[in-house]
Amino acid sequence: MPEMSVADEAELYLKMIADPGSEPGLYECLACFVSRRVEEVGCDGTLLWSQWFRDVKSPTASALEARLTRIRVYCDCHVTRNGYRMERRLLIRDLMTDELSEPDEMPDCAGVRRTSTKPCGNWERRPVNEWRPGRHE
Ligand SMILES: [Zn+2]
Ligand SMILES: [Zn+2]
Repeated sequence: MPEMSVADEAELYLKMIADPGSEPGLYECLACFVSRRVEEVGCDGTLLWSQWFRDVKSPTASALEARLTRIRVYCDCHVTRNGYRMERRLLIRDLMTDELSEPDEMPDCAGVRRTSTKPCGNWERRPVNEWRPGRHE
């Protein structure tokens, strides 16, 4: 991935704080926040939004990147694709094919402690055998 210049980073930072949607909600969890931001502005191949979430909500959670990397999450779109998925009760069963799929609409965040960097009850850890290989898309 291309390195960002200091000017690019400053500009991005200004954009982030100017956009009210870029603030995580008081009880919004990491997974809901990151998936919301990736949907709105996309993933730039880094853990930008995850780190932003940490900086805003839980600046002392410095192990967050290590924890995410350990579950093979290397960028924001991986947080919900490889790391977490919505829990089964939120999956929709297709009556024709009997396949389960994730709902189009994200349910509201179920909420977590204010400084938590864990996903809320809407998400579960994706089992290793369901990890999709490959990289940031
Ligand atoms: Zn949530
Ligand atoms: Zn990505």
